Amino acid sequence: MDDIVNVAKRRGFVYPSSEIYGGFANAWDYGPYGVLLKNNVKQAWWTDMVMKRSDIVGLDSSILMNPRVWEASGHLENFTDPLVDCKKCKKRFKGDDTDGKTCPECGGELTEARQFNMMFKTHAGPTEDTASMVYLRPETAQGIFVDFKTILDTTRNKLPFGVAQIGKSFRNEITPGNFTFRTREFEQFEIEYFVKSALEAKKVFDEWVKVRSEWYKGLGINSANLRLHEHPKSDLAHYAVTVTDIEYNFPFGFSELEGIANRGNYDLSQHEKFSGQELKYFDEETKTKILPFVVEPSGGVDRAVLAFLIDAYDNEKVEGEERIVLRFNPRLAPIKAAIFPLIKKEALVMRAKEIYHQLKEKYFVEYDESGTIGRRYRRQDEIGTPICITVDFDSLEDDSVTVRDRDSMKQKRIKISEIEEFLEKKLR
Ligand code: ATP
Repeated sequence: MDDIVNVAKRRGFVYPSSEIYGGFANAWDYGPYGVLLKNNVKQAWWTDMVMKRSDIVGLDSSILMNPRVWEASGHLENFTDPLVDCKKCKKRFKGDDTDGKTCPECGGELTEARQFNMMFKTHAGPTEDTASMVYLRPETAQGIFVDFKTILDTTRNKLPFGVAQIGKSFRNEITPGNFTFRTREFEQFEIEYFVKSALEAKKVFDEWVKVRSEWYKGLGINSANLRLHEHPKSDLAHYAVTVTDIEYNFPFGFSELEGIANRGNYDLSQHEKFSGQELKYFDEETKTKILPFVVEPSGGVDRAVLAFLIDAYDNEKVEGEERIVLRFNPRLAPIKAAIFPLIKKEALVMRAKEIYHQLKEKYFVEYDESGTIGRRYRRQDEIGTPICITVDFDSLEDDSVTVRDRDSMKQKRIKISEIEEFLEKKLR
């Protein structure tokens, strides 16, 4: 993990928030390459889960919602973690991480566990009384349930169909940590997939576990680093019928990357009850009203980014020197290509810059003329750029360039007029 944190900081992927003030525990900023990587992960998800499917629509609901939403969803009552304190060293733990009696750090006696609600509270408007209390959403899902009927009424969707959303969520975690794995502010990508019956939900659940596992593999995660974990009934959250986690082999062990939950029709029935509004779907085939059942693939964007970063990281010896390379799937790579003049001679610089400006209209690309070619390759390897393009003296004669592949380090000549097509194929 140290290698990942180091490369992430050194190359501007992720670094501590508010660092000039000594940082802020477990808050992280995505730097210039990090934000590109994160955006590419979100874009890949949006393209594959929304754009390419005809049964899923998108949503961007607000973070602050009517507090009754959290009463109905059960979060006010149940979204809690047991909190224990050590009477000796005064450290605080999540009850589940202890044996309930002795402090895991100093062996001192622990207090009785008390339930701690993980929702962040704040106030809407200038008065800070209970009437103005609002919550930062702890999941994006409830925005989808609350808007379900409006989405039905304003689109022509027929069951089964899904609603997808990417957005920030907040949880006042007792023990955040492991870099960006567990933070108090994080981003989720969630789909609520609505179906007609409990039986159909069971079937669709298995399909989603497969679709989501394949998605990670398709974007480069080694299958040996993924596994499924089925939750035993006794561990299920208050709303869930069944839950299977997709776990990734993080440096601290296999841990949840994404959860796929069969939520029954708990959420819609609760919102019907609390809002007094009917949230049913009229089934034209049977001429009956149905309260849909729902399957939810819910992933963490930050955890996905971390997994892609860890899986891409490689450290090898090339000609006696260390080469750090991030072998990102080209769709996720922050920079798609780097363009170099072989040396800093005006004719080469001009031609290389021309190519750079032309590609920059379509892709995130970089121009670099400083240092040896070898050094420039290494810099791009370290940020995972799939292709480097070099303009040399021959280029001025034959209108060709050398393209060098990040993974194989093989080089070949292609025509300048073919660069775009070459990149297009590589990045697909
Ligand atoms: P965990 O058991 O790790 O606390 P969870 O089961 O509570 O996670 P869910 O409620 O299923 O998590 O949330 C869906 C996804 O959101 C998780 O799979 C994870 O990727 C992400 N996520 C949840 N909590 C956090 C957090 N504190 N920091 C970063 N990502 C998170």
